[in-house]
Amino acid sequence: MAATPQNPSAATPRRKVSRHRGEGQWAAGHFTPLNGNEQFKKDDDGLNVRTRIETIYSKRGFDSIDPNDLRGRMRWWGLYTQRRPGIDGGKTAVLEPEELDDEYFMLRVRVDGGQLTTEQLRVIGEVSQEFARGTADITDRQNVQYHWIRIEDVPAIWQRLEAVGLSTVTACGDTPRVMIGSPVAGIAEDEIIDATPALEEMKRRVLNNPAYSNLPRKFKTAISGSPVLDVVHEINDVAFVGVRHPEHGPGFDVWVGGGLSTNPKLGVRLGAWVSMDEVPDVYEGVISIFRDHGYRRLRTRARLKFLVADWGPEKFRQILEDDYLGRKLTDGPAPDEPVSRWRDHVGVHRQKDGRFYVGFAPRVGRVDGTVLTKIADLAQEHGSSRVRTTVEQKMIILDVEEGRVDSLVESLAALDLTATPSTFRRGTMACTGIEFCKLAIVETKARGSALIDELERRLPDFDEPLTINLNGCPNACARIQVADFGLKGQLMTDDRGEQVEGYQVHLGGALGLEAGFGRKVRGLKVTSDALPDYIERVLRRYQAEREEGER
Ligand code: SF4
Repeated sequence: MAATPQNPSAATPRRKVSRHRGEGQWAAGHFTPLNGNEQFKKDDDGLNVRTRIETIYSKRGFDSIDPNDLRGRMRWWGLYTQRRPGIDGGKTAVLEPEELDDEYFMLRVRVDGGQLTTEQLRVIGEVSQEFARGTADITDRQNVQYHWIRIEDVPAIWQRLEAVGLSTVTACGDTPRVMIGSPVAGIAEDEIIDATPALEEMKRRVLNNPAYSNLPRKFKTAISGSPVLDVVHEINDVAFVGVRHPEHGPGFDVWVGGGLSTNPKLGVRLGAWVSMDEVPDVYEGVISIFRDHGYRRLRTRARLKFLVADWGPEKFRQILEDDYLGRKLTDGPAPDEPVSRWRDHVGVHRQKDGRFYVGFAPRVGRVDGTVLTKIADLAQEHGSSRVRTTVEQKMIILDVEEGRVDSLVESLAALDLTATPSTFRRGTMACTGIEFCKLAIVETKARGSALIDELERRLPDFDEPLTINLNGCPNACARIQVADFGLKGQLMTDDRGEQVEGYQVHLGGALGLEAGFGRKVRGLKVTSDALPDYIERVLRRYQAEREEGER
């Protein structure tokens, strides 16, 4: 049985961690909640809110929702209140949560591995048109996000989604979030190993499982057997990366403790190689360590990265092996350098079965229900029943016969979904921003889209891989710390002394073997209006002065 605050005697296993007794770890006997979040999680499992939504809130309306459900447990089923329209970014930090709350919700649909059938995509599009005013963004963790959701409609939405095998369970909250997977798993010609069986088993074991529904905070997972390293494994709580062991063959290298936000840390390797069959056990071991030993006193220290930083990878591996697996893991090699600087699979690529996949680029992940339905139609008209989302807010249609590829590429382009995007269209991402997010200070999606147009006009020949990531606040939903241009939204004063939207600039971040965080250029802030000028200036100077091989 798993440890829960309601049943602490079931803690598995119990280990004294005297140095951090004050951090609220269950393994050190801290079952008395040390903050409001821990209290509401102890009072009632977040998974239980579903019954209240179905039987009470959807029938009696928004005002009937218990505040601890509204701003707490609703997340366990993918629901956040969205920002009340018309509240500017200057008020984000000063208003009370209830003043920021709209009576509509964001609803996140988890798309583990980015894997969708055309039938599922069509239902996502239909739900968007019927219940979400047409909204449906592709997120940078392969999910789909709706806005304008009424609580009255949530049971009907679940019914529609679940009828085709989709779910919103633990899409948010202190839970195992969506499991990122290679969008070309099982089809890419250069694949080291197809991780799909392990992904499926991980989902089967932890989703909707009360043993893992009260974690210290969110828990992010990635798994890929692609040599492109296409799942941002460096910034997940746990990641499995395809490698070839010299004796044992294809398997996975295990990483733990990555995460961005305000205290960014790159994941570290445990130096362990695991086979496909071992992945689910190791996954459950790591998530259980987080549940039992993770810090619960302060929300700002409640991610796995802080525990990993305190323990180090050797101690983490030893506790995983001794206390959770009951056996030693095999030592293994690190992944090789990624085979491409673009990791998004955009463009036309041959599959291992001789057919082709076509990756294309919506603008900053913004699509809508009508477009998603048309993508499903186009895929089917071209003989495909499988679509993928990527962690760069892009999409892929799989399984296209060679003779149908040109027709598909042209049809997608007619929907402004190009398979041959400019560097700027391809490399720009944006988080939700002030349009819907309660934490936002500035606009991001529309700004990112306008920035793409402007840079395409000014620098039509710039064709090197480049990432421009826009965030609406100091959080890191759009991964600003690991972008070439990481732009963190904030208010600033312009030349006329007026308060305007702008961005603090982080320069030169990267993932892959050169992984590192961008440098926060001291005092460098750019107003939103001046952003195209600034980026153009930096890129022209880079083109004029770079040395051989310099990024
Ligand atoms: Fe909201 Fe900030 Fe995340 Fe953007 S980065 S989605 S503004 S919390």
